[in-house]
Amino acid sequence: MSTQANPTSTLKGIGASPGVAMGSAFVLDRKRVRTPKLRLSAEEVEQELMRIKTALELSDYQLLELKERISHGEAHDHALILEAHRLMLHDPMFVDDVRKLIAQDRINAEWAVRRVARKIKHMFDNIPDEYFRERRADVDFVADRVVRNLLGQVVDVDVEIPHGAVVVAHDLSPADAAVMIKEARVAAIVTDLGGQTSHTAIVARARGIPAVVGAGKASEHISPGDMVAIDGNRGMVLINPSQQQLALLRETQRRFEESEQAALATRDLPAESIDGHRLRLNGNMEFVEELPSLIAHGAEGIGLYRTEFLFLDRPTLPTEEEQYRCYKQVLESMKGRPVTIRTLDMGGDKVPGNKKFEREPNPALGLRALRYCLANRDLFRTQLRAVLRASVHGNLRLMFPLVSGLSELREARSELEHCRSELGRAGVPIGPRFPVGIMVETPSAAMIADRLAQEADFFSVGTNDLIQYSLAIDRQNRDVAYLYKPLHLSVLRLMQGIVSAAKAARIPVTLCGEMAGDPNYALVLLALGFDDLSMTAGQIPAVKQVIRKASRADAVQLLENAMQLTTAEEIERFIRMEMDKRFATEP
Ligand code: PEP
Ligand code: MG
Repeated sequence: MSTQANPTSTLKGIGASPGVAMGSAFVLDRKRVRTPKLRLSAEEVEQELMRIKTALELSDYQLLELKERISHGEAHDHALILEAHRLMLHDPMFVDDVRKLIAQDRINAEWAVRRVARKIKHMFDNIPDEYFRERRADVDFVADRVVRNLLGQVVDVDVEIPHGAVVVAHDLSPADAAVMIKEARVAAIVTDLGGQTSHTAIVARARGIPAVVGAGKASEHISPGDMVAIDGNRGMVLINPSQQQLALLRETQRRFEESEQAALATRDLPAESIDGHRLRLNGNMEFVEELPSLIAHGAEGIGLYRTEFLFLDRPTLPTEEEQYRCYKQVLESMKGRPVTIRTLDMGGDKVPGNKKFEREPNPALGLRALRYCLANRDLFRTQLRAVLRASVHGNLRLMFPLVSGLSELREARSELEHCRSELGRAGVPIGPRFPVGIMVETPSAAMIADRLAQEADFFSVGTNDLIQYSLAIDRQNRDVAYLYKPLHLSVLRLMQGIVSAAKAARIPVTLCGEMAGDPNYALVLLALGFDDLSMTAGQIPAVKQVIRKASRADAVQLLENAMQLTTAEEIERFIRMEMDKRFATEP
């Protein structure tokens, strides 16, 4: 430790993947390359166009090679990100613009690449969705690769990361992250950039590697060999911690591991209350990379597969074949357990990456989700065909998002039938008929749940949106976040109505909003009578623990008492207090 350069200090970032870890820092130097800016003479243009052609081909080859290197193991899906980078190298919006700048503005290839990259990123800037903003980093990764190749620099350094190191980087490219996953030697990850939905965060969560992203200037503050300890739950990075800090952190780590172990011990046990009421706990997923973790945490099925994420991270739309392969993989991995594929919840602030960058004036109330699909039939049909083809590979359920009335459901179902007969006529194999349900996430759908239940095979309540629309609170707006109350009496009443309509029509009813994964709400949801709850992998064990210690009769009484109160604050306080009485662990 005598070689440590830095005094003890602490950085605060975003806890992207839970857990505590410590180790020697391995600082990955991935700073941006300097871009030379040169004007060309008319005679130099031809040669410059050749240079860019060679650099693009080389970049493509490198990505292909890298993809093959990692595609054999479980990192297979990560290869899709590299494939998206390859697509950008072929995208006319990128290639033609670079060539045009070289030929018309007579600037060198490196400069042209940077200018086009800036233009593309600028389009992403106007989209307020965090996930989309993160995708700007992908544009930089591709541009960096091309510029480094133009300059004859080494691109993919085959770095040997020492076992148990804490990797510290300004940002990690998907290529770096992919290799790290494959070789899985790292104890933890710290990056200066990134948010909850950056690749690093997703990959770290999927692999259970503690991570802190968005940690400011971590890669400048931390020197190679520094002792770094991170708390991925709280987003803390400790540089050369004192003995006292280390002891505290080790205690946190011990408690975290203990509670993980205790929770995971329930993996194969049912979520059944002490008075015999059985709930099914499913997983929510965006990326196939999350499957191993979902299975490890005991997901009994997939309650929500947000397929739009397949469309967002790329310059072109995924083909039917690509979607089919993805859905097939999910269905096969779940080995007969139900997989609920939600059709694209696209539009509003989530727009496909190929062309549409215009903002709607009021995106949450705009052309979103099922409305978007019904207005873009080709896109919708491509997805439905892929789903139908994938249905031979497992236990599929299909779900339409943001249904606001019966006509939309009928229209969507008729599109599905159209695609089914089209494939049938072409002799393409399709599985047996599967349940077709809807997300109930608009107040209008909740109010006519009894009618919708006549034509939907199941309901899945999307509380994230149901709360947004019923309480008139933009779920993305920090200023009104304090009004976002899952236990608002109006939300509870809406949920009661939806569940009772489902029960009357004898169709299953699930909840797949964030609320499902909060153990504090588990008794309320048990009392309301949901058949399934769907949440992210890490939330399953804690919710299961509560359900297994609970009595449904007690939960029903608790809810009844809570609904005698009126304000959301009163109800929230009452439920928390009662939950503490029942489940707070003794000191
Ligand atoms: C919801 O609205 O609760 C939901 C699960 O869907 P999303 O968060 O994708 O809108
Ligand atoms: Mg929703």
